[in-house]
Amino acid sequence: MLNVPSQSFPAPRSQQRVASGGRSKVPLKQGRSLMDWIRLTKSGKDLTGLKGRLIEVTEEELKKHNKKDDCWICIRGFVYNVSPYMEYHPGGEDELMRAAGSDGTELFDQVHRWVNYESMLKECLVGRMAIKPAVLKDYREEEKKVLNVRVVESVGKIEIVLQKKENTSWDFLGHPLKNHNSLIPRKDTGLYYRKCQLISKEDVTHDTRLFCLMLPPSTHLQVPIGQHVYLKLPITGTEIVKPYTPVSGSLLSEFKEPVLPNNKYIYFLIKIYPTGLFTPELDRLQIGDFVSVSSPEGNFKISKFQELEDLFLLAAGTGFTPMVKILNYALTDIPSLRKVKLMFFNKTEDDIIWRSQLEKLAFKDKRLDVEFVLSAPISEWNGKQGHISPALLSEFLKRNLDKSKVLVCICGPVPFTEQGVRLLHDLNFSKNEIHSFTA
Ligand code: FAD
Ligand code: NAP
Repeated sequence: MLNVPSQSFPAPRSQQRVASGGRSKVPLKQGRSLMDWIRLTKSGKDLTGLKGRLIEVTEEELKKHNKKDDCWICIRGFVYNVSPYMEYHPGGEDELMRAAGSDGTELFDQVHRWVNYESMLKECLVGRMAIKPAVLKDYREEEKKVLNVRVVESVGKIEIVLQKKENTSWDFLGHPLKNHNSLIPRKDTGLYYRKCQLISKEDVTHDTRLFCLMLPPSTHLQVPIGQHVYLKLPITGTEIVKPYTPVSGSLLSEFKEPVLPNNKYIYFLIKIYPTGLFTPELDRLQIGDFVSVSSPEGNFKISKFQELEDLFLLAAGTGFTPMVKILNYALTDIPSLRKVKLMFFNKTEDDIIWRSQLEKLAFKDKRLDVEFVLSAPISEWNGKQGHISPALLSEFLKRNLDKSKVLVCICGPVPFTEQGVRLLHDLNFSKNEIHSFTA
């Protein structure tokens, strides 16, 4: 058993309650947390009503199971009896019922693409659809004779050089594979996970650590600025997935590890919540252990930086993570940039991530101003205090020039971000001038 108190879990501010992509989550009844669900699936209870049998399900049969207490859903050709899961579903029963008795793959992909349903619902598996829908063959796993891969991030191109086994001219180039010459939207490809090895773990604050993971050999993973990935770990036999935003190894070039070649390593700043589900498990990993890392997701567009003059960053707690790459990029790659201002909200001084790096960077580059705001300062604090508010923002968000091109990025606990966006609208920032980070 994990030491997770079940009372009022997930906590009011837990990511398990947090709205993602505008989707609202419903309050779960007591005893209906993700951990409670895992416990139920391990209890040996017959959750499908089929006593462990797997059956072939016809479309007609599937359609019949469309009620709350008898609800089957097909996802990617597999049929699940989701009735026992209804009360545990963070999106609520109504959301699940939208797919009752039908193929819910598309609906699922719209909101949950990253959720590891195979693992979460394995005890609810009824069987396969009788007519198996065409499944795309995954060629990524096939061995590739790749000699060299070069990623040119700035232009978004990848050059792949393939090695010929023999130095002769080929009579023909083989047969095109399925999906050759076709473009599959990323949303339809499913998330791909690779196992990465924990290389180092370093304390950054009392509860936040810098994790360095090494990609598997010959793997290239370029996470675009402002995007996140999902980390996956087995927790008591169930695969749990949570989103995290990769950062650079440091804010300052002199702090960067010179021995580590680029693109082989991926860094994360992760806060450990002692009563959380995922982070304590992550924290228990030893150097050399593995964690699965997904392909990137997110809707931040680097084109937002074009001709940008004023950049304002509002971050709370680990909401600072997307700002790391943004800061690095803005200060080195946007020639038009005149000013970057970061307002960083934390509870206490001890919670401030990379405070001295931020101060050094601001000292080195006069375009950067950093302001720390504390909601619960414990010592003599001469800086700003409180929460995000109209007074704080109106003073902070002064444009350099009346008509300068501005972008405000905001990230933190969801209520912080939502309140911030409302305040920004009140201060006449347009939709295009605001980017809020959410899942
Ligand atoms: P949870 O189980 O979700 O718990 C979170 C909170 O609830 C904690 O305060 C915990 O103490 C409390 N809690 C848990 N159980 C109980 C209980 N029984 N009773 C009372 N309270 C309880 N985080 C980072 O650190 N770094 C990142 O780079 C990062 N990037 C993110 C990117 C995106 C797009 C999103 C949406 C989130 C990101 N997060 C990031 C947050 C991250 O995904 C997780 O939500 C976070 O790590 C907490 O996970 P957890 O499972 O450990 O905690
Ligand atoms: P935290 O330490 O609990 O809070 C940081 C600051 O925000 C504190 O000053 C806190 O004030 C304030 N705050 C909290 N809730 C608020 C609210 N409702 N209104 C106004 N201010 C509020 O933060 P954390 O534990 O690091 O959490 C960071 C959050 O950022 C997580 O929810 C994480 O999921 C999210 N995140 C999102 C992304 C993304 O979407 N891309 C990336 C990284 C992190 P108090 O003292 O009053 O609590």
